[in-house]
Amino acid sequence: MAYLNDNYLKLKAGYLFPEIGRRVKAFCDGNAEAAQRLIRCGIGDVTEPLPPAVVAALHKAVDEMAARETFRGYGPEQGYDWLRAAIAQHDFRARGIDIADDEIFVSDGSKCDCGSILDVLGAKNKIAISDPVYPVYVDTNVMAGHTGEANEVGAYGKIVYLPCRPSNGFIPEPPKKHVDVIYLCSPNNPTGAAATRAQLEAWVKFALANKSIILFDAAYEAYIKDPAIPHSIYEIPGARECAIEFRSFSKNGGFTGVRCALTVVPKSLLAQTKSGEFKPLHPLWARRMTTKFNGVSYIVQRAAEALYSPEGKAQVAALIAHYMGNAAVLRAGARKAGLKVFGGENAPYIWVRTPKGVTSWQAFDKILHAANVVITPGSGFGSKGEGFFRISAFNSRANAEEVARRLQELKW
Ligand SMILES: *Cc1c(COP(=O)(O)O)cnc(C)c1O
Repeated sequence: MAYLNDNYLKLKAGYLFPEIGRRVKAFCDGNAEAAQRLIRCGIGDVTEPLPPAVVAALHKAVDEMAARETFRGYGPEQGYDWLRAAIAQHDFRARGIDIADDEIFVSDGSKCDCGSILDVLGAKNKIAISDPVYPVYVDTNVMAGHTGEANEVGAYGKIVYLPCRPSNGFIPEPPKKHVDVIYLCSPNNPTGAAATRAQLEAWVKFALANKSIILFDAAYEAYIKDPAIPHSIYEIPGARECAIEFRSFSKNGGFTGVRCALTVVPKSLLAQTKSGEFKPLHPLWARRMTTKFNGVSYIVQRAAEALYSPEGKAQVAALIAHYMGNAAVLRAGARKAGLKVFGGENAPYIWVRTPKGVTSWQAFDKILHAANVVITPGSGFGSKGEGFFRISAFNSRANAEEVARRLQELKW
């Protein structure tokens, strides 16, 4: 007899996006006219096509693959040297951050990396996760057996939840008790909050004092407008000794369907063995990647490289400006509708408080039925997300303007 992984049975059944899909489908099936008017501001996926510099690089790479002389088979598992060098140079060293080319690991997505990183971390770690948050951090820890069962509001035993509220600007403060691994996401999905330098300094100080590791998800760093907000955890002195950073080309280059991301593991980052010795994680992650992964395709890595060309950079800046223009429209619209609005200034997400007495899912249903707009209920991101909903700025400008208008017409 074969045994299954019982941890999977602990996962809460109704994962957020399938439930949204179910409700939207039920609504549209009975209402063809409203289905026509439907505008989706739900799932965090980009809407605009790839930058022309990327498209040109893709075509060129395909042609190279078509000729025997330039054809490529397996590449290095950690990524081609030229892409690792471009990333380390443009994203880090050009900003005065000390990161070596071989501390960059190219992958097919940050979502996978956020989950896979648990392969190189021990099973006894006390895990701290923001609430609300990107559901991947919690669910991958459940799958790995790092948690107890879920309670009525979906909180799992053994995880230390770090509440994100208006009073802390939705950036958690370090806990009073010891934790070993901390997930931080800034700019944040779903709240749109971005951690200040002082907030990140407090976390690095905590991590160094507790010999803990920060898993820093910077998928939205390109959306930071405020020059005082750090783009990387490594802008904070000491972070090379306590942090792993995840980055992705999904939200800056529009690579959600192309698939390319990277993880930074500094060679100076150590963790403890069972016998109490401190050893670097870098060789473990290198071993993990070479064993379980065969690299991102040559074509896609050339596409990612093109994002660092002068044209690529200008085109990414234009994409971000487009989405952030939408965010401004949506923020203003929700505010004029009398709603309390957060985020949307350094991130493509607007985090809105529901009117008094209205739950997140009630707000979802109301906005779906009365405004024919799909948003994301905050409670789907964690129990502290109850009483909020997320509006995504990934859309056309016309749709963002229309959503802003419909929100103002809505009678609660
Ligand atoms: C979109 C997103 C990512 C990127 O994931 P990919 O697998 O690289 O597409 C990572 N973290 C968060 C919080 C995200 O919202």
